[in-house]
Amino acid sequence: EQEVAEYRKSLAIRVSGFDVPRPVKTFEDCGFAPELMRAIAKQGYEKPTTIQCQALPIVLSGRDVIGIAKTGSGKTASFVLPMIVHIMDQPELQKEEGPIGVICAPTRELAHQIFLEAKKFAKAYGIRASAVYGGMSKLDQFKELKAGCEIVVATPGRLIDMLKMKALIMTRATYLVLDEADRMFDLGFEPQIRSIVGQIRPDRQTLLFSATMPRKVEKLAREVLSDPIRVTVGEVG
Ligand code: ADP
Ligand code: MG
Repeated sequence: EQEVAEYRKSLAIRVSGFDVPRPVKTFEDCGFAPELMRAIAKQGYEKPTTIQCQALPIVLSGRDVIGIAKTGSGKTASFVLPMIVHIMDQPELQKEEGPIGVICAPTRELAHQIFLEAKKFAKAYGIRASAVYGGMSKLDQFKELKAGCEIVVATPGRLIDMLKMKALIMTRATYLVLDEADRMFDLGFEPQIRSIVGQIRPDRQTLLFSATMPRKVEKLAREVLSDPIRVTVGEVG
C-alpha cells in the first residue's frame, strides 16, 4: 500500500472511496485481449496517461467513478476501453435490443469525437456505435438506431428526442457515461440528464467525468452514482 501511495503521489493522482484498485503502469496490466491491445497500438498509444493509469483499473473492476482531470488528459479512452470489455462480457449479445453503452456529451463536436474514438476500438469486435446529436436528420438517426447498435454517443437533447420517438430502448443499457458534466450543466442539460439517467436500470455502472465539480454536479453525482471512487489528477477539481 505504501508503494501504491508513492506511485499515486508521483503521478499527482488523488483518490477517495473504499477499496480503490491500484493504478496500472501499462496497458498490459489491464488484461486487455490481444485484439484490443492491437487497436490501442494502432492508435499509437504506448502507455496509459495519468488519469488512465488510475481510472482504467477502477472502471474495469465495475465500480462507479467520478473522474476529474483537465482537458487533453485522455479521459475518453479511460471510459471507452472498459466499455468495450463491458460489452464483450455480456452474455448472448444478440438476444436483446438497444445500446449497452450510453455516453452523453455536451456538444455535437464532443459527441462526434467520442464516437470516432469508440469506433476505433469497437471495430475489432464488430461492435456497432451510433452518434446521436442535433444538426443531423432525425429520420436518418431514427433509422440508424432502429437498425441496432451496442454504443450510443449522444447530446442529451437529441437522445431524449430519440427516446420519445422510440428509436431505441434502454432495457439492456448497463454502462452510462456522463462526459464533461460541468459543461452539460452550463448548457442547461440537467433536466435531460436526469431524465436519461431515470430511464436506465439502477444496476448500471455509471461514470461521471468533469473538469470542475460545481455544487450542482456534486449533487447529481451523489444521487446517480453508487459508492463511487473519485479520481482527481493535477491541480483541477
Ligand atoms: P480529454 O477527454 O481528457 O480532454 P481526450 O480523451 O480527448 O482528452 O484525449 C486527448 C488526446 O490524447 C487525444 O488526441 C487522444 O487521442 C490522445 N490520447 C489519449 N490517450 C492516449 C495515450 N494513452 N497515449 C497517447 N495519446 C493518447
Ligand atoms: Mg473529453
